Amino acid sequence: MSRAHNFNAGPAALPTEVLESAQTETVDFNNTGMSVMELSHRSPDYETVHNQAIASIKSLLDVPDDYEVLLLQGGASLQFPMIPMNFLPQGQTANYILTGSWSEKALKEAKLLGQTRSSASAEESNYTYIPNTSQLGLSEEDAYVHITSNNTIFGTQWQNFDLDWKSPLIADMSSDILSKPIPVERFSMIYAGAQKNLGPSGVTVVIIKKDLLNQSAESVPTLMRYDTHADKNSLYHTPPTFAIYMLNKVLNWIEQNGGAEGMRQRNTEKAELLYNVIDESNGFYQGHAQEESRSYMNVTFNLPSEDLNKKFLQEAKEAGFVGLNGHRSVGGCRASIYNAVSLESCQALKEFMIEFQNNNE
Ligand code: PMP
Repeated sequence: MSRAHNFNAGPAALPTEVLESAQTETVDFNNTGMSVMELSHRSPDYETVHNQAIASIKSLLDVPDDYEVLLLQGGASLQFPMIPMNFLPQGQTANYILTGSWSEKALKEAKLLGQTRSSASAEESNYTYIPNTSQLGLSEEDAYVHITSNNTIFGTQWQNFDLDWKSPLIADMSSDILSKPIPVERFSMIYAGAQKNLGPSGVTVVIIKKDLLNQSAESVPTLMRYDTHADKNSLYHTPPTFAIYMLNKVLNWIEQNGGAEGMRQRNTEKAELLYNVIDESNGFYQGHAQEESRSYMNVTFNLPSEDLNKKFLQEAKEAGFVGLNGHRSVGGCRASIYNAVSLESCQALKEFMIEFQNNNE
């Protein structure tokens, strides 16, 4: 068996142990004589998996009792319109802090549904940084403030959330959820597609404060309402059972590897390996993000010329590194080093980068 050095941005690497465990259960899950994919979502065997996944998210992130954990479909992208549908009443304004393409996409959907503003944006720098507290321009008047905690495409990340947000804080954590401990109590809602840090695509994790659940107008369609899913333990309609089963296995793996704090240590070590190569390259590798805003999930960089970017990507591919192309909207290179990417893969990439520089400077 050979496993690639997988730096894909999402869907992304899954722990080998998780895949192997799923493999052994593929035709007979838990002595049911069938795969988990063939079980009724109303069966006790499936419900156990479903409830374990929800319980693990609560314990791994220390989710307070006044929050619900929901498992939804439609990706993080469906949250973009669902949030304003439920929480942006007429006559109020929602504030979207712009730190990259995904924040822009979230804002675009909100604009279709209500009144918005963006009190801070890093667009003028091509999103190289996260605005600092004094630049944020927050206001108590806003219905909510929306942020993207990690900017998958540009490689920037909010370093902490310790400030007075003035209005309910909603965060898209698609690309850094459970990569480190977070103060859930600071947020009114957190959402994330699973396919980077938590499992395969097909399930979206939503952590939502219970007092938001009764705020939706009656005109919001049933499936688009958070209270529908909360009232039915995310079993209002058929959930993505296989994705949730895999999510549950990945959460177990996180538990066995030190929980959120274990992930923080593991991810810090990996990211520092790569940022050290960039910093010690005398400008051969140029990080896109400003140092204090660097992402520990997506390491974005450029080489001195477009030709060298291409050569680097070609040779990296030949050497067995997968997924290092920057996003098509920004180019360059990007190493996505989510939870399941191993230290060994990052070490191998570090050595490849050093050797490439030595041969091409
Ligand atoms: N937000 C962020 C930060 C993302 O990285 C992505 C996917 N790359 C999305 C939202 C969109 O997620 P999905 O494809 O699950 O809708």
